[in-house]
Amino acid sequence: MNTLTNRAKQVNRSPMTFLESIYLWEIFKGMFITFKHMFKKQPTIHFPEQTRPYSRVFRGLHVLNRDEEGRERCTACGLCAVACPAEAITMEAAERLPEEEHLYREEKYAAKYEINMLRCIFCGLCEEACPKDAIYLSETFAPANYNRKNFIYNKQDLLIPNPTTETELLAKAKGETK
Ligand code: SF4
Ligand code: SF4
Repeated sequence: MNTLTNRAKQVNRSPMTFLESIYLWEIFKGMFITFKHMFKKQPTIHFPEQTRPYSRVFRGLHVLNRDEEGRERCTACGLCAVACPAEAITMEAAERLPEEEHLYREEKYAAKYEINMLRCIFCGLCEEACPKDAIYLSETFAPANYNRKNFIYNKQDLLIPNPTTETELLAKAKGETK
C-alpha cells in the first residue's frame, strides 16, 4: 500500500475471539491505567492557598507606579493608550496645582485613568511605551467577577500603595508579608 507518510497501519479485520468479544480484558486494562494514577503525584494545586511559580516573562495585572516620595509618576501623556492595540486604556489629564507637588511628580497628571481588563491582552506594550516608568505589569491577575463593570479598573484600583504612608500595604502588595 502506497501512502504519503508510510505511517499508516494495517487494520486487523480477523473475527474476534470469545475473550475479545466480551471486552473483559480491555476493561481490566483500562481500570489498571486508572488505578495506576491513584499512586501518582497529584498535578492539581489548591489555589489560591497554593500558587505555582510564575514564569519570568509573566505579564499580569497593571500597577500605576509612584516615585520614592510617594508621588504619582504618570504624566498623562497618553503614549500607553496610543501603544495599546486593544484600546483598553483611557485617561483624562489635569494640571498640577502648586499645593499638589507632593502628590504628582510632573506638572501634568492623570485625573482619571482606566484600563478595561476585558479588552486587555496583557501584551505589555503600555509598559514599554511609558517614558516615566509609571506603569508596569505585575505578577497577579485580574480576579474573576460576575459583573463586567468590575473589570474596568480605575486609578485607585491600579495605584501602588504609597511607600511613605502605606508601608504595610506596599509590602503586602509586593508579597513580602501575608
Ligand atoms: S497590556 Fe497591552 S492590551 Fe493591555 S493595556 Fe497594556 S498595551 Fe493594552
Ligand atoms: S502611564 Fe506612562 S505612558 Fe501612560 S499616560 Fe502615564 S506617563 Fe504616559
